[in-house]
Amino acid sequence: MHKDIATPLRTRGILEKYGFSFKKSLGQNFLIDTNILNKIVDFAELEADSGAIEIGPGIGALTEQLAKRAKKVIAFEIDQRLLPILEDTLSPYHNIKIFHQDVLKADVAQIVKEEFQDSQDLMVVANLPYYVTTPIIMKLLSEGLPIRGMVVMLQKEVADRISASPGTKDYGSLSIAIQYYTEAETVMVVPKTVFVPQPNVDSAVIRLTRRPEPLVKVKDENFFFTLIRASFAQRRKTILNNLTSQLPGGKEKKEQIISALEAAGIDPARRGETLSIVEFGLLSDLLVPNFS
Ligand code: SAM
Repeated sequence: MHKDIATPLRTRGILEKYGFSFKKSLGQNFLIDTNILNKIVDFAELEADSGAIEIGPGIGALTEQLAKRAKKVIAFEIDQRLLPILEDTLSPYHNIKIFHQDVLKADVAQIVKEEFQDSQDLMVVANLPYYVTTPIIMKLLSEGLPIRGMVVMLQKEVADRISASPGTKDYGSLSIAIQYYTEAETVMVVPKTVFVPQPNVDSAVIRLTRRPEPLVKVKDENFFFTLIRASFAQRRKTILNNLTSQLPGGKEKKEQIISALEAAGIDPARRGETLSIVEFGLLSDLLVPNFS
């Protein structure tokens, strides 16, 4: 029996064998704790028939644990230098396919379609590169992949913002964008000591469970997100001030904005951070005729 990749000793051996040097610019912080990895995989609740999609396999620490529990694993890795290493470390497993691609540029939907069965249970499970956590999550959610959800490690500060509720300091456009598509929960806070090299920030694991339908049904999704970004542009300003100063032509449309806020039962003196997603949805539908 070979030892798990994610032990300090085996990881060090692999890195030395290949003379691998970490690239900070690619967010390379590898996990060296099998317990944490097992917990991450537990949170994904994979079945024997499930498929797993990983972003950034590194030297294969998480990929290996996924391969033991899922039917098939696909992984996107940007760093060419890791490919021969992965071929070596993951050679005992025959249910893994690595794609040498930048996940942000990859046609993930097409690859998923080709690699998995139509009705197969699919989860994204990853220890994300921290310099691009938000774009990766938003890409995977907004492209309508047929996934049940995601279990991902990221910076604790971003996890706090993603799972925040209205009225809290962390609540903002990121919370709304992600909660629009999913139910978000922080399931584990992770110490720096389980990574090599240790990151500068604290980490957490979040679980995103895809909603069958987005949380609110809006007439114009683009305007809904424009409205949300505008509402949080300056957190200390009222919703009315943010909307008049941030929406295109907002100053001239102040009266219409006030009417829409009143029709939605929203006091124009409230701050954006106190509005629920449902209130933003209502406001968006009332305002969109004035901005299209
Ligand atoms: N999964 C491994 C682990 O847990 O030990 C490595 C995780 S490390 C935090 C992030 C990985 O993502 C690195 O292997 C890095 O090279 C890769 N990566 C960075 N940017 C990427 C991108 N745009 N597309 C695909 N992989 C990327």
